Amino acid sequence: MDEEELFDEEPPYTCDPHHNCIDKFIVCQEELMGLFAICPACCERSDSSIVQQEGTFVKIKQVCASCGYHRFWQNQPMLHRNMPTCNLLASVRAVSFAISAATPSL
Ligand SMILES: [Zn+2]
Repeated sequence: MDEEELFDEEPPYTCDPHHNCIDKFIVCQEELMGLFAICPACCERSDSSIVQQEGTFVKIKQVCASCGYHRFWQNQPMLHRNMPTCNLLASVRAVSFAISAATPSL
């Protein structure tokens, strides 16, 4: 399988219980999209757009009109088909915070 075929498909869904330990970053949209402005195959300008956004999840499609290169990129893996890893972690932390805030201290 050559490199082009690897990027031809959407990223695989994964399940890694250690994602809670991995550093996460907040990135401005303009800075993020700048990473997809140049085609990695031919170095010409390429078109990119956000095709899905949900909570902390973002999925970008990059297409190069010059050489036909295209790929999908997403900022986090999926634990399940419809549950981005960081969205689940954010929900768990929000619930934990709400419980600790509602529990009277001794
Ligand atoms: Zn290209």
